[in-house]
Amino acid sequence: MAQITSYFQNLNFSVEEGPLVEDDFHNFEALNLPKYHPARDMQDTFYCNDGAVLRTHTSPVQIRTMMSQKPPIRMIAPGTVFRKDFDITHTPMFHQIEGLVVEKEGVVSFANLKFVMEEFLTHMFGDVEVRFRPSFFPFTEPSAEVDISCIFCKDESTGKSSGCRVCSHTGWLEVLGCGIVDENVFKAVGYEKVSGYAFGLGIERFAMLIHKIGDLRSLFESDIRLLGQFR
Ligand SMILES: [Zn+2]
Repeated sequence: MAQITSYFQNLNFSVEEGPLVEDDFHNFEALNLPKYHPARDMQDTFYCNDGAVLRTHTSPVQIRTMMSQKPPIRMIAPGTVFRKDFDITHTPMFHQIEGLVVEKEGVVSFANLKFVMEEFLTHMFGDVEVRFRPSFFPFTEPSAEVDISCIFCKDESTGKSSGCRVCSHTGWLEVLGCGIVDENVFKAVGYEKVSGYAFGLGIERFAMLIHKIGDLRSLFESDIRLLGQFR
């Protein structure tokens, strides 16, 4: 998280924070996820008694930042998020970093987003190929999921990834989601005549790939044999 934060700070992104217990408006509604929208099922939410939720993503920080500041905005939001999920790649508490850039209409485009993501991923993972796949997120349109060529089965002589267990024999690893901010999100915060892009990624996912950790849960178990390997 520190590495990624300082990378974006060097690009003049501010670092923003928000509450862990959120209301429905900031966690869902303002992010183009109205009540009963099927996309709410993408996130297994912890609900509190009074209708508040444990935030399921760091995206509400984008909403809070936009509602308290005027554009242009260039921010990242690192932090803890919560979902009802527990297996080798999911824990109920994990960490995300999201980024948001908002400029006057027409100033930023998908091309800018693509460039920033490619530079960032090459900085984190070294000499990898980056590919964008069309995807769906409620708060961006168009949206993309971004893959890097697999760093585990890369042939150093050809630079090609031939496929292995980690990449499900595809040669690609999914690392982040991004897109052009949906008009409805700007409407919800009262912004007009702006355009922007957003991206988000899981910190544990990056840590697992960079440090070659096979089970996400081991990041939270405080096993001294594992911790001793990271000085
Ligand atoms: Zn592989």
